[in-house]
Amino acid sequence: MKMPIPDYLTEILDHVRDSDGGEVADYIPELAGADPDRLALALCTTSGHVYSAGEHADVEFTIQSISKPFVFALALQELGTDAVMEVVGLEPSGEAFNELSLDDNDNRPVNPMINAGAIAVNQLINGVDSSVEERVEKIRDLFSRLAGRELRIDGGLSASELDGADRNLSIAHMLRSYGIIRDSAHDAVRSYTDQCSILVTTRDLAVMSATLATGGVQPVTGERLLSPEACRLTLAVMSSAGMYDGAGRWMAGVGIPAKSGVSGGLIGTLPGQLGIASFSPRLDSQGNSVRGVRMFELLSHDMGLHLMSADQQSVPGVRSITRDGDDTVIRLQGTINFTAAENILHELSAHNLGGTRLVLDVSRVTSFNRMGRRMVKEGLRRLREDGFRCSIFDPDGVVTNLEFSDGTLVDTVDVL
Ligand code: GLU
Repeated sequence: MKMPIPDYLTEILDHVRDSDGGEVADYIPELAGADPDRLALALCTTSGHVYSAGEHADVEFTIQSISKPFVFALALQELGTDAVMEVVGLEPSGEAFNELSLDDNDNRPVNPMINAGAIAVNQLINGVDSSVEERVEKIRDLFSRLAGRELRIDGGLSASELDGADRNLSIAHMLRSYGIIRDSAHDAVRSYTDQCSILVTTRDLAVMSATLATGGVQPVTGERLLSPEACRLTLAVMSSAGMYDGAGRWMAGVGIPAKSGVSGGLIGTLPGQLGIASFSPRLDSQGNSVRGVRMFELLSHDMGLHLMSADQQSVPGVRSITRDGDDTVIRLQGTINFTAAENILHELSAHNLGGTRLVLDVSRVTSFNRMGRRMVKEGLRRLREDGFRCSIFDPDGVVTNLEFSDGTLVDTVDVL
């Protein structure tokens, strides 16, 4: 069976493809030349299955501010929470990303997602005495492991940003004047700018985001890269401050901890379930990708991904797969949301299903959300196309709508 998830992702892309609102960031000269029509979407589950859509899913772009949560997580892991909290706070700022502001009471940057906080956190990596090169290399190495491939820095872009970095230099001078950083302002901004200039693809970002979702184990390579505590705190900050000053509305509407960047990337992380990434360079007035935000709104709504909704707790959807003569019986369990349905379809496509009839037993399923039901039915429809007779055992009527997308009905059995 061919997995239906790339088709769903393509549907989302098709929804936003024609929208041309927003402007490409132009305050960094090299970003101004980005192709505004590029569009991609990718998703990685905590079990390491990666799906992508759009012809630009493997196109590289600079990570920009999406680097901030990962460097924050690295600092937490290297130094522990208390040491990191000495240089940066955890409160949402409600200000622009490049605001020249510190907390009135303790002179720390208010959080690690605004530039002041990110520059302060960057300076913690590899110790305060580190050279810029060694610090950046440590970050590049972590990002490569998070992505599962060797990443490189776009030196041209970094130099072009550094050339006009008056604002970030002012921030660094301010941090130095309060004793929060020790490097010269120029070195601090060079290090931070290199961090922002690491080249990633949408697919890379989905896997990196999924590593936060697992609590620090890269789901494709299996390597532990971050501690569960570091991931938890990072996701908490992403949920309150990840979307510049649109963070509150984002959390209410989309409900996925997220981080966006000025090159048009956007990541979302559903703890325990998924990492999602989108790429589309045109930005709204808050600096978030216009089509990226729209894609996340659609994903959250259509796939039932809002973190605060009641059906987020999921257990593996497949309880057992057994063979009985010509029948293969697939027993499902729990709440079937997107993640559970992905697990079911993945099991069904990986399993060498025998016999001629498949019976899906949903008697232990407590509920389906809309996307879970849609995906499981689509899986049955595709298995039927593959030549199986498919029926469902649903004594409590949890599936509710037994019509396939092609208008035919799911066969039911009364006893098992
Ligand atoms: N390097 C960019 C800056 O500091 C990153 C900004 C962003 O993506 O929000 O201006």
